[in-house]
Amino acid sequence: MTSEKRPRFAVLGAGMSGILAAIKLKEAGYDYTVFEKADRIGGTWRENTYPGIACDVPSHLYSYSFELNPDWTYLASPGGEIQAYFEGVVEKYGIEESIRFGHPVVRCEWTGEDWEVEAGDGFIGHYDWIVAATGILHHPKLPDIEGLETFEGASFHTARWDHSVLLDGKRIGVIGTGSTGVQITGDLAPRAGHYSLFQRTAQWVMPVEQVKYTDEQRKEFREHPEALDALYEELDHSFHDNFGNQVLDGNHEFFDQVRAACTAKLEEIRDPELREKLTPDYTPACKRLVISHNFYDSVQVPQAEVVTEPIERIEPKGVRTADGRLHELDVLVLATGFQVDAFVRPMTIRGLNGQLLDDAWKERPSAYMSVTVPGFPNFFMINGPNSPVGNFSLIRTAELQYDHMMRLVEHQQSNGAKLMVPSAEAAKRFEDERVEAAADTVWATGCQSWYLDDRGIPFLWPYPFSRFTQEMERPRFEDYDVA
Ligand code: NAP
Repeated sequence: MTSEKRPRFAVLGAGMSGILAAIKLKEAGYDYTVFEKADRIGGTWRENTYPGIACDVPSHLYSYSFELNPDWTYLASPGGEIQAYFEGVVEKYGIEESIRFGHPVVRCEWTGEDWEVEAGDGFIGHYDWIVAATGILHHPKLPDIEGLETFEGASFHTARWDHSVLLDGKRIGVIGTGSTGVQITGDLAPRAGHYSLFQRTAQWVMPVEQVKYTDEQRKEFREHPEALDALYEELDHSFHDNFGNQVLDGNHEFFDQVRAACTAKLEEIRDPELREKLTPDYTPACKRLVISHNFYDSVQVPQAEVVTEPIERIEPKGVRTADGRLHELDVLVLATGFQVDAFVRPMTIRGLNGQLLDDAWKERPSAYMSVTVPGFPNFFMINGPNSPVGNFSLIRTAELQYDHMMRLVEHQQSNGAKLMVPSAEAAKRFEDERVEAAADTVWATGCQSWYLDDRGIPFLWPYPFSRFTQEMERPRFEDYDVA
């Protein structure tokens, strides 16, 4: 029996994944609403505006496959340009009117018939499917350092940048040396009066030249879209089939090559003490591999200092390190990362029999095939737990996941069913096998990173990207209860 009724969709979030879902749902003629807590689209690229921000995944890969952009200015284009790209796409595909801005979703509840969604100031709507597109790196993680609130200068997390604060010539301190801290250092250290980079763990920083596309090259891409397609395919292959497979084997010889490339750059550092401080003692790519064209030059400007002495506390005038030294600062930047286990939370999500997602995820978040959760029918996550994350394009992952969702929806429709939910057995089997496979990956070779869950096990997709593509293209319908 085929259901006559066309399902209605609630898309949570108008960042990269939510925009994708909206475009595709609109094209397919579905009834859908996008809920966005802020007053404009953009997700990560709206919220992160720190100096030096760029996407280190090549821009021609970090694009929707159906909307390649001939006009990217750089190999790794700046954040503002990426935000403008998404704004342009939203306008071109005419989805803005379907977005309820200023509508944070507070509750999604399965009524037995459909999902009741409560958003913003008392809005209540009913939908058949939830598409959670709320992102991973969303909730800032503030460091648990004594006295943080006592600092008298300007202080903010990198995802909450205060653009009213003057930076040039100031005494700036940055805590954290992940991708964010490294990009900020590249931009800010040369402009600061004094620059202190507080480093807890040295990072492998892969030197990659910043390539600027010339006007002629961009014209060429505009006039020959097939060249743009070919470049996308080439990058897709290089990231997803090459790097994507290498990270699965912690002993892969590829890491020797990365180590050699990074070490060659480290060896150019003039001061042996600084070189020593910046040299990591774990396998490259164990933490997310940081990519930069200017980090090593910037940390060597005379006013820059890499502080490896542990931070003892923060005081009104600056940061006190364990050696008793007070690093006086005007501005303190917290490049300390994100709480990565929240996903769609803190929204209240209530599934079958009134079960809360918070309870289902009491130990830790997980998702069958990275997309669905037992007990939560017609609830689909894009870039949710156990998705392929790392130095890849999250857009490629999102596109595959979206198409997977539509295969589930079509299956449900063709069965005349109201709900579709993965079985607990299938989810457990998937998770048990996933945990076993994760032990062999480079992420489990002995470093601390946001890739690890509370047990120290990588929470990412631990199989080849080709397997992800295959799983997304061929849903295992037998693992779902359809009713
Ligand atoms: P992150 O990788 O989690 O790095 C956080 C940094 O803060 C680490 O260096 C960490 O030190 C340090 N830290 C945290 N708490 C601390 C404390 N109490 N005391 C001292 N140091 C502390 O965060 P992120 O740099 O914001 O990057 C997160 C992710 O965002 C990246 O991995 C990437 O996926 C994404 N991102 C991407 C781009 C891009 O270009 N595509 C750019 C920026 C961010 P330890 O290393 O010792 O833990």
